[in-house]
Amino acid sequence: MRPKKTPLRMCAGCGEMKPKKELVRVVKAPQKEDENGNPLPPEISLDPTGKRPGRGAYLCRDAQCLKLAKKSRRLERSFSCKIPEEVYQRLEEEMEKAAREQEERPVEAPSAPLDQQGRPIIEIEEAPELLPRKKGGGHGR
Ligand SMILES: [Zn+2]
Repeated sequence: MRPKKTPLRMCAGCGEMKPKKELVRVVKAPQKEDENGNPLPPEISLDPTGKRPGRGAYLCRDAQCLKLAKKSRRLERSFSCKIPEEVYQRLEEEMEKAAREQEERPVEAPSAPLDQQGRPIIEIEEAPELLPRKKGGGHGR
C-alpha cells in the first residue's frame, strides 16, 4: 500500500498529471453485442461520478484537452478502439454543458442593497458644487 496521497491521473489531452478530482473521467462501457453476436459500437461517455464500469481515461475539464486527445488519438489508444467523430462531438457537448453548469452555480449576491423593486440602491454622493473652470484647457473629450 502506498501512503495516502492525492491520486494523480494523466490528462489524455495535455498529458499533465493532475489530481483526479480536477479531471473528468471518460469511460468506455464494456463491449456489448447485438442479438446476432456482432459487437456494438463502443459506448463512450463522460462519467462525472467516476464510478461507471468500463475502461476509463481522464481529461481536464477543458474542451481544448478533448481536442488534443482527439488529435493525438490518446483516448483511442487507451480504449484500444476507434472513436467516431460523433462521439467526440458528444463528449465536447457534455463537457461544455458541465462547464456552463459550473459557471452558473455560484451567483454572488449583489453587493449593493436592493430597493423594493429589487434594483440595487446606489448611493451617490452629493455632487460638490461645480468649481469655476480655469481658463483654457479642458475642452474636447
Ligand atoms: Zn489536460
